[in-house]
Amino acid sequence: MLSYRHSFHAGNHADVIKHLVQVAILDYLLQKDKPFCYHDSHAGAGLYSLLGEQAQKTSEYQTGIGKLWQYQAQSPVLQHYIELVKQLNPDGELAFYPGSPKIAALMLRATDSIQASELHPSDYPILASQFVRRRHSRIENMDAWAGFKAMLPPLHKRGLVLIDPPYELKTEYQDVVHGLSLAYSRFPQATYAIWYPVIERAAVEAFISALVGTGIKDMLRIEYCPLPDSSGFGMTGSGMLVVNPPYTLADTMRTALTELSPLLSPQGDFSVHQLVAE
Ligand code: SAM
Repeated sequence: MLSYRHSFHAGNHADVIKHLVQVAILDYLLQKDKPFCYHDSHAGAGLYSLLGEQAQKTSEYQTGIGKLWQYQAQSPVLQHYIELVKQLNPDGELAFYPGSPKIAALMLRATDSIQASELHPSDYPILASQFVRRRHSRIENMDAWAGFKAMLPPLHKRGLVLIDPPYELKTEYQDVVHGLSLAYSRFPQATYAIWYPVIERAAVEAFISALVGTGIKDMLRIEYCPLPDSSGFGMTGSGMLVVNPPYTLADTMRTALTELSPLLSPQGDFSVHQLVAE
């Protein structure tokens, strides 16, 4: 049963941190002339209306992009991320927010490839319609893990794989651990970015331990929490576990989060640290 719709949550603080890390990694991959592949395992709808009924019902974007989009940042990656959002809102009103595949489409060169899987019967056609004219794209109405088997390794031997499930079911945490091992065995050169929510601290640490337990080397953990830990009160923050991070990523994110954290919340806190050595 797929009840999760990202349109209720688009642009919230968790999207901000996720997409900031995505932009930082893509910026790095774009420095080389050689084409690369972006793979999005849980792609969502790609583009979200923030004035629509679903976003307005929760107003979650006001915890994230709503506080930021007019800000002039010092951090280059933070400014680049804000510029991407502005590109979709040229009239000076925050009406649209880009999902992860749209961010990739805005940033990548025509020679880079984009592949994505999205299972939801309503979100998939919205996503696919945005890629009909793009060459080097493959957008499948497919389960994420089947998508890894069908599409990895890609033609290009460099890339970013974003793993961003809704974690609605407890089993999804274990699915991510298995999914990462599967994808890594097929495409070990790629950078992997796994998003996770912070809801209950002990459960987060158990998940992180399970990811470390895969034996995969070179993992960086980036976490941003606008609220202090609590249990039973919903998501207080989120993080990204990055495998094979660009060597610049830790410093880039420390600088960006030092600037971002007080903008989003006076109680905000972040951490960036190497979890497993190269
Ligand atoms: N990555 C998107 C972004 O940042 O804009 C948001 C993705 S949202 C958090 C998770 C998506 O995964 C939902 O659109 C949901 O329909 C989809 N989904 C859930 N289970 C899936 C599965 N097994 N395979 C592929 N997609 C799945």
